[in-house]
Amino acid sequence: MLTDKLHRERMAHLPTRVEPLERLSARLGGPRLLVKRDDQTGLATGGNKTRKLEFLVGEALAGRADVLVTGGAPQSNHARQTAAAAARCGLRSVLVLKGEAPPVLTGNLLLDELLGAEIRWAGDQDMNDALQETAEALWSQGGRPALIPYGGSNPVGASGYVAALEELMAQLEVVDQRVDTIVFASSSGGTQAGLVVGAHSLGFSGRILGISVDQPREALAATVAMLATETAALLGRPTGFDPARIEINDDYLGDGYASVGKPERDAIRLFARTEGLLLDPVYTGRAAAGLIDLIGQERFRKDETVLFWHTGGTVGLFGFGDKLTA
Ligand SMILES: *Cc1c(COP(=O)(O)O)cnc(C)c1O
Repeated sequence: MLTDKLHRERMAHLPTRVEPLERLSARLGGPRLLVKRDDQTGLATGGNKTRKLEFLVGEALAGRADVLVTGGAPQSNHARQTAAAAARCGLRSVLVLKGEAPPVLTGNLLLDELLGAEIRWAGDQDMNDALQETAEALWSQGGRPALIPYGGSNPVGASGYVAALEELMAQLEVVDQRVDTIVFASSSGGTQAGLVVGAHSLGFSGRILGISVDQPREALAATVAMLATETAALLGRPTGFDPARIEINDDYLGDGYASVGKPERDAIRLFARTEGLLLDPVYTGRAAAGLIDLIGQERFRKDETVLFWHTGGTVGLFGFGDKLTA
């Protein structure tokens, strides 16, 4: 495998399944649709961060860390999977979350507490400052913190999605299935960077189309290209990736990050009611809304195969109940 030289702590249930979405394909009258079930990676309700954490925690353990520190939004899927990974490896976890503690713990936040994470609310402090301060306090108390980047997106974390693309290609080969386009939610860029490096290294010929969840196209493309270039170097396959060739659609940003509107609500209902498949309100709900709209605009050929890479987050539904039934 391309990632064989990296430290890796196996935690995910792999390979995740690839399943056809026949009823949804028929309903949308569009291309053949498949789903890659990374919502089922197995770690405390799963998600894409588990693949990144296998490498990030592997590196932390090799460096003899005893506490994982990361940050995110209150309903961060990444923070929840980091807390679970820490518990599973006998490490402490400290989560620095944006804003103030809500009155009731729901969704990911409830799981963070059950998983034993120590939560620090950043209030109006800058998130990077709050993270640095937290790590320094841990060092001064004699701890050995490992700082896990936002969204797990550095070259080590992105390597999880290089391995994931390799996993997908092996699955497709067995059933002699081709995929023309992979569609997924893209935010901190590690998932897309890993897929792009995997595709380049292994000769995957399909398109890799990220639906931006929170950033304008140019900004996210620059992040993904840089991360892909660094990831390729880490894996000993130096290649320069050009932001202009990173495919990102930013038409579905709505009112911004974690603002759940009608497109997300409709997409979540449609997937649930035609396939019994649950999406999440912040990432996959938005990416699916984008996919549905692009199919409506006939941006895919009818005979093409589109794989929706489900990146998880389903437990976040319970943190947005009021928005989803509005
Ligand atoms: C973090 C996350 C993403 C985005 O992945 P990035 O690697 O940060 O771009 C997509 N979907 C879900 C459910 C996530 O939690």
